Amino acid sequence: MTDKKPRRKERVPMPEQEPKVRATNFEEVPLGYTPEMAIEEAERCVQCKVPSCVCGCPVNVHIPAFIKLVAEGKFAEATRKIKETNALPAICGRVCPQEVQCEEQCVFHKMGRPIAIGRLERFVADYERDNDLIEYPTLPEKNGKKVAIVGAGPSGLTAAGDLEQLGYEVTIFEAFHKPGGVLMYGIPEFRLPKDIVEKEVDYLVQMGVELKLNEIVGKTVTIDELLGERGYDAVFIGVGAGLPKFLGIPGENFGGVYSANEYLTRSNLMKAYLFPEYDTPLVRGKNVCVVGGGNVAMDAARTALRLGGNVSIVYRRAREQMPARQEEIHHAEEEGVKLCLLTNPVEILGDENNMVSGLKCIKMELGEPDESGRSRPIAIPDSEHVIVADLFINSIGAGANPLLTKSTPGLELNKWGYIEADEWGKTSKPGVWAGGDIVTGMATVIEAMGAGKNAAMDIHEKLMGVKKPDTSPEALPDDMECQLPPKRKEPTS
Ligand code: FAD
Ligand code: SF4
Repeated sequence: MTDKKPRRKERVPMPEQEPKVRATNFEEVPLGYTPEMAIEEAERCVQCKVPSCVCGCPVNVHIPAFIKLVAEGKFAEATRKIKETNALPAICGRVCPQEVQCEEQCVFHKMGRPIAIGRLERFVADYERDNDLIEYPTLPEKNGKKVAIVGAGPSGLTAAGDLEQLGYEVTIFEAFHKPGGVLMYGIPEFRLPKDIVEKEVDYLVQMGVELKLNEIVGKTVTIDELLGERGYDAVFIGVGAGLPKFLGIPGENFGGVYSANEYLTRSNLMKAYLFPEYDTPLVRGKNVCVVGGGNVAMDAARTALRLGGNVSIVYRRAREQMPARQEEIHHAEEEGVKLCLLTNPVEILGDENNMVSGLKCIKMELGEPDESGRSRPIAIPDSEHVIVADLFINSIGAGANPLLTKSTPGLELNKWGYIEADEWGKTSKPGVWAGGDIVTGMATVIEAMGAGKNAAMDIHEKLMGVKKPDTSPEALPDDMECQLPPKRKEPTS
């Protein structure tokens, strides 16, 4: 007889700040597992022979292997196992939509209790960092080739890390004064603390990646100059899709109207939420309207709420069609954000000082499915009404910024202005690869990282003749159906 504890059935919940408390601060909402919680959760994993969870991960983290190490209490070893394929585990553990990736593929998903892979990933990465256990991989001899990476977002950082580990001299050119891309300027502190992003970027710098900040490629240097007089053998473009879209309704020029991109950049990157300690102006609305239904809208709404506003999210479709993660919608509602669903803005109203005073909207109902497969919202006649607002944040999406692409002859674009690239990131221009949001439209952190990885392998094959692994569906075991690379798409709102 053994007195071993029976395996727990349900997921170990993760403690988090109380909604009322967290609505007034910028500290992280979930508090993370303790070592005991992590072990208990890891012990639920049955170590499947054919681990379908790995299929759901765009960078193929060895999930059962790292979970086994967690169950044995070997936390630092578990992080190193993850880092074999993912250099940013503390970030991915926090912001990846695991519920539609690895956790959706877990054998326990159908029973409604998949292993909490993301929470475990976050726990081990935090444990390694907080206990000063970070180890750097031994790098091979330099191979004499140089690669330039444009953009220090997740796609560029991943390509840089992988190429550095393959012996390349890697330089990242980043337009902002801080690296991280959306991780730094878009996702708020209460979801992803910036010191964590800084430390994960520092891991790459310690490995040898060179970072050149305040370098706007297309303005301060062109791609052709990088490949020509600057002597780079290849360039990877990972500049994201940060150009805000506008609604095209009257009133968008009033004071107190922001794109989510500008609002979040001011708050996150330029620390407006710490005013006056940081000298960044930002309108603090009493009544705030955020238009949109994605993660960006949730981040903008929850930021405005923490800055003292009564916040309403105005979305033209129904709740089930909101593209944001369920967890984010749930957190926003718990904190006091109001959802105005099936509501569409038609005009921003202003006062005598040309500042926002309200939002004229109409009610919508759902009709037949449109090209995105979702029911088309149709305006209900005579349903105009006004929502009082002194701050308006437009979060209906973002597109490709033409600054770099316009200055790069020979680079083919699609009809939305995104770069045409194959699944390995190869573009129409010799020596140039691209990946992440600038190819797919706004997707996810892990998909951008997957694109950076693929491009690194392809660059290595091209420059050094080392064949990349066959990741086609045919090369997988018969009983393992993996996701194909992300499809090119126009972001929906
Ligand atoms: P980015 O992260 O956009 O990075 C591009 C970098 O390139 C930036 O640093 C930019 O300054 C730099 N750059 C641009 N032009 C130039 C130039 N000409 N020269 C030099 N540098 C340049 N995804 C998730 O998985 N989970 C989430 O919870 C989530 N939340 C999000 C919240 C917000 C507010 C936003 C905006 C996005 C969110 N996403 C989320 C999406 C995710 O962040 C992106 O898909 C991902 O960051 C794309 O990575 P990337 O490397 O392609 O580009
Ligand atoms: Fe563990 Fe689920 Fe992966 Fe199986 S599918 S190895 S149970 S995480």
